Amino acid sequence: RIAYVNGRYVPHAQASVHVEDRGYQFADGVYEVCAVKNGRLLDEGPHLDRLDRSLRELRIDPPMARPALRVVLREVMRRNLLRDGLLYFQVTRGVAPRDHAFPAHAASSLVVTARPVDLVKAQARAEEGVRAVTHPDIRWKRCDIKAVALLPNVLAKQAAKEAGGYEAWLVDETGHVTEGSSTNAWIVDTDGNLVTRALDSAILGGITRRMLMQVAQEAGVHIIERPFTVEEAKAAREAFITSATSFVTPVTQIDDAVIGNGRPGSVAMRLRELYIMASEALAQA
Ligand code: PLP
Repeated sequence: RIAYVNGRYVPHAQASVHVEDRGYQFADGVYEVCAVKNGRLLDEGPHLDRLDRSLRELRIDPPMARPALRVVLREVMRRNLLRDGLLYFQVTRGVAPRDHAFPAHAASSLVVTARPVDLVKAQARAEEGVRAVTHPDIRWKRCDIKAVALLPNVLAKQAAKEAGGYEAWLVDETGHVTEGSSTNAWIVDTDGNLVTRALDSAILGGITRRMLMQVAQEAGVHIIERPFTVEEAKAAREAFITSATSFVTPVTQIDDAVIGNGRPGSVAMRLRELYIMASEALAQA
């Protein structure tokens, strides 16, 4: 495997950054994860738009112009012979003597890694359904920025895993679900509406969330953007998660409550298929 680190393509085992990289010391950086299917990068434009926004919000300089970044991403895919998998790219404020305030002259760092994913296994997981385990949302007030500071997400996901779950559903102080530890959270309510929290600084604006809304609209599914409680989710017809990594994956159990008949919901499975078809059709080589 080959990684890209600040201008060089290096063997994965030797891919490293300096100990005073601000990403390492302050989590002062942002990232993106894009799915690759059949050798094509899915939803690339929206992911690069979100990267630009995250960088702007934190006043980190883009490491390079977008056309150059697109070339690097493709070169990492090519050197890894990546057909189905994930591309991870991270930009930090760069290397500088440790000081909380921004350095005057640091150049931002760019790291890109690739990882194959077994899409057959992922499909089987979707057809089986997963369990979500609720956990208090103890994150900061700018969850709309895709920052590498993920400690609360890490702790929530670990707790979910130890409880036999696949994803953690984060719950705010009012008992409403914000999102998953690395996914957006959805339900199909008892009236058949698709429900997901509206975008604000409490959640990440998922690219899969956005694309799914488009395909759902085109399929005539009614969407309501509003918060829902854990209780409502447990009584919902269907529940599911979305992300670049999981596409659309049905949630068939929340804590100890079985959702619907305990099988993946038909709306979720149909939207999964539609999302994959639409994003593949839109993807440029
Ligand atoms: N919410 C959080 C906290 C995430 O980390 C992610 C993705 O990693 C998502 C939602 C889903 O976003 P996307 O669909 O862009 O992958």
